[in-house]
Order: sequence, then C-alpha cells, then structure tokens
Amino acid sequence: MSSAKLQIACPACAKVALDAPLERYGSYALFRCPACDLYFWEPRVMPDARWYEQMYGGRDEKLLPLEPGHKYFLSDPLAPGRGDLLDIGCGTGNFLAAARAEGYTVSGTELDRNAAAFAKERLDLPRILGLTISEFVQRYPDDKFDVVTFFEVLEHQAAPLEFIQHVKACLRPRGYIALSVPNRERWLTGPDVFDYPPNHFLRWNAAALRTFLHASGFEVLSVREQPASVAHTAQMINMSLRTGLMHNTAGDASSFRNIMQMAPPDADSALHTAPTPRQRAMQLLGRVKHAACYPAAVAAYPYVRMRRLKGAYLYCLARLMP
Ligand SMILES: [Zn+2]
Repeated sequence: MSSAKLQIACPACAKVALDAPLERYGSYALFRCPACDLYFWEPRVMPDARWYEQMYGGRDEKLLPLEPGHKYFLSDPLAPGRGDLLDIGCGTGNFLAAARAEGYTVSGTELDRNAAAFAKERLDLPRILGLTISEFVQRYPDDKFDVVTFFEVLEHQAAPLEFIQHVKACLRPRGYIALSVPNRERWLTGPDVFDYPPNHFLRWNAAALRTFLHASGFEVLSVREQPASVAHTAQMINMSLRTGLMHNTAGDASSFRNIMQMAPPDADSALHTAPTPRQRAMQLLGRVKHAACYPAAVAAYPYVRMRRLKGAYLYCLARLMP
C-alpha cells in the first residue's frame, strides 16, 4: 500500500483521517483526526489480560491512595452521590471502598487476578468480576447501574465506540458515567514512557472527549483538568535533566516503553532481572537527583501556576441523554 493512498478511519468518529502521521514509534504511527481532534495510534491490537497483569503487577502489595480522578468524582456536586455503581478496571478496589463509604452500592471488574483478590479479601468488596466489559454485558444482560466509572481506561481502548456502547448497555435510563484519561495537553518536558502503544492507543484532550461523549448520547456535566502540581513540576524538571544520566546506564533499554514492546518471556526477564551494581548506583544517583528537583520545583511553581500548565488528569462526568 502506498502512503499516498493511506486511508485511516478515526476510531472515535469513524471519519477518515488523511493527514500524515504526527509521530512514529516502532511499527506504530500516531494520527490526528481532523473531525473530532482525537489522536490515535495505528495499528491497535490490545494485549491480553495477562499482559496488563505483568505490566501493572505488584499493585496488590499495598492499598494505593486515591487518584485525582477518583477525588474529583467523589467531591463532584453534580454526581448522584448514591445508587448502584460499577467501576471498570477497579484495580485493588481503593476507589470502590471510598465510593461505598460515600453511600454507593459497588461492583467492579478487574482482569488482574492479584489486584482482584486484594479487593475481595483485604477490602471486603464481594463483587469483583474478572471480566472485560463486553463479557460482563454478555454474562449479566439484566444488571443495570446508576453510575459506571472507568478511570484511566479509555486511553487503552482499541475500539472506543464499541467500549462506550458496552458501557451504555450497563446503564439505567439517565445513568451517569465518570472517567479520567491522561490529558494530552499536560505539561511534558520529554516523552511519557507509559503513553505509547500497546499500552495506550488514544490521546484525548477536553474537546475531543466532549465531542466523543456527546456523539455517543451523553450530556457532559463537568470537565476538570488537573493543574500541574509541585510534584509534577519536580518530575518535569527531572525529566528535562534526565538525558545525560540515561546515556550512562542500560536505562532506555530497560525502560517501560521498551519492555512493553517485548514478547512476554523477554518482558518478564527484563522486569525481574536484578540490576548490576553499576545500574544500582545510577538508580541511587537518579533518586538523589529527583529529590534535588523538589526545591527547584517549589521555586518554579509560581511560574508554573502563572502559565496555567496542566497536570496529567482529565476528569469528566456525563449523563445519558433522555
Ligand atoms: Zn474522529
């Protein structure tokens, strides 16, 4: 196929995007949809459940703090505040436990077996199902919810239209959805290694998200963009200083962005190989440098605020239109 005849359909609005790719990464290319402004990678083939378990494993060891998206929802005055809630990709269940404490009756889906076991046993969350959302809809066609939440899930989807149809199938009339995605407009001083395929396939901003949800039959009630925090500022200063250090280590070869391209056995050994003494020394140096970025971040923060630089989380609450 010649590149001149390349016709790529946007996965969110199905219009054809003809522009040249914005970026290439390995065998993937990133396109912008001129109609709805979504950025999406081609090709998109989502890995199986065990891949996510491998890449995101270890989350069962401790109860993670709530993410900003969770907090935005729990404090959102437009959210219903009670009712039956389903959280897709609930992880260790930290958000579900907090939502239950607020008055919601909670259920969750989670494919990572260790995280699901933690949610059930340690947080006493009885209904955590190891199903994808399409499997859930098939298995429980009569199970309907007042709220369906999916935090940091939509950016992973190969077929977002199909995903949102499954979400709608779980909702009662006038039901709510709440979600968060990484904000494409966040302040970055280097590539975000997690934000590449096959981990993430879609890059959203507030406008693209609104367009997508509205076209899918939702009324958007609130959108919140996290401002860049002091911690984010420290991370960006650290990232901009990283290059020199990374050249001196096996660094990039073992970075998440490369590991997630590997076949499972190679990824497994890369994730579990003990670092050499030299790598350990460089890691320690990296941590010291990261800590040293904090005073610089505090000093730079008034400028960051003034520039209105954005943080990672883009939150949205929406409701099914009548
Ligand atoms: Zn589009």
